[in-house]
Amino acid sequence: MALLTGTERPTPGVLEVITGPMFSGKSEELIRRLKRARIARQRVGCFKPDIDLRYHRTAIASHSEQTHEAAVVTPDAERLRELLFADGLVDAIEVVGLDEVQFFDEAIVPLSLELVGLGKRVILAGLDTTFANEPFGPVPALMALADRVTKLNAVCMVCGQPAIHTQRLGQSRELVVVGAAGLYEARCRAHFQPYVEEPAEQMELPKVLAHA
Ligand SMILES: [Zn+2]
Repeated sequence: MALLTGTERPTPGVLEVITGPMFSGKSEELIRRLKRARIARQRVGCFKPDIDLRYHRTAIASHSEQTHEAAVVTPDAERLRELLFADGLVDAIEVVGLDEVQFFDEAIVPLSLELVGLGKRVILAGLDTTFANEPFGPVPALMALADRVTKLNAVCMVCGQPAIHTQRLGQSRELVVVGAAGLYEARCRAHFQPYVEEPAEQMELPKVLAHA
């Protein structure tokens, strides 16, 4: 029986996903892990999509004001791949951090696995559901394929219980409105109301049918 010895083991990459609603401390946890990796003298590359306008242009920021330098990229996995592989950047980093991963297209999934295949530790943070309570973009697939998933809870702003939902408070239908204070808050299952389309057009429908 051939047991693996230390020398025969490949350097394993690992995929870590940090998820949960807004205000659950995802960015804070990502920053914590990246800072620890740097203390361990690992070379860290951190990225975030330029869609996230809150607080800092060139750093990821948590609601608790922890920050970590981040390269701002467009939420396009192919372009991120070009950036990583173009100048051998990928060879210079051991840990890849990516915040707001929910805004990336599905191609972020094979890219993440490719990086893991190269022996990288890939740490992704992002929302698991939209304000309409639908799984958010590539996050469900990334959660399924990860070595480690950390699903954080926030605190319900109505009752104080653990919250898994992001409640949309305003009227905007824009999915991509990030971090604007007062637009969102965390809610538990009991107090969450999924955002639904304005009923105005639907209310017209019976009238139309009546005349048909
Ligand atoms: Zn509640």
